Amino acid sequence: MTIKQKILIIEDERSISNFMDSVLTAHGFDTVTAQTGREGYSMISSHCPDLVILDLGLPDMDGMALIHSVREWTRLPIIVVSARSHERDKVEALDAGADDYITKPFGTSELLARIRTALRHSLNSDELAANNGVFTSGALTVDYNKHQVLVDGVNVHLTQNEFKIVSLLGRHAGKVLTYDYLLKEIWGPAAKGNNQVLRVHMANIRRKIEKNPAEPEYIFTEVGVGYRIAEPDR
Ligand code: CA
Repeated sequence: MTIKQKILIIEDERSISNFMDSVLTAHGFDTVTAQTGREGYSMISSHCPDLVILDLGLPDMDGMALIHSVREWTRLPIIVVSARSHERDKVEALDAGADDYITKPFGTSELLARIRTALRHSLNSDELAANNGVFTSGALTVDYNKHQVLVDGVNVHLTQNEFKIVSLLGRHAGKVLTYDYLLKEIWGPAAKGNNQVLRVHMANIRRKIEKNPAEPEYIFTEVGVGYRIAEPDR
């Protein structure tokens, strides 16, 4: 018998909670549900879930506060659920330590894909070391030891900062990295909000690594939020 992975759903809207509950149960997950932030928070300690799905708009507390509290003691993957009108919330949640987000309304396949990615990401944080410092996804290779990015085995000659952007995304495969996170990591805190510099760099990176920069295969734009890299090969 295989041990099921447990998912805690913290969501006060019954219809959405029931939908997620039945989808996840049908796909072999063990589920527990909470309707309030306080209940959810205590269930994280009592049920030790493998992943948390968190609605940001809870009746008793802001979901953001819950992320901050949880991140003080665990890397447990958190997927945030938010309404389409709250773009800024998603960014804030990711910066606070959420792993990913999903926008209402969403379908079964999107929900499952996000969960699988977040679970895999949490299991394989040492993956790069295990792969001798190499990230590969299709024809794309990021070689952390040689400081090179290759496409079909050919060095694409990124600049230093272009390499930093791609290598950060590769280290966090499965996660959306926000504009501010990338700006702060590469140019420091003063660069916060200067999304234009990032866009220019990304355009150059895509010109070098993507067959068709308008339809990227390796680095995807999450509109208004940031960037994510394609899933690594197994
Ligand atoms: Ca809600």
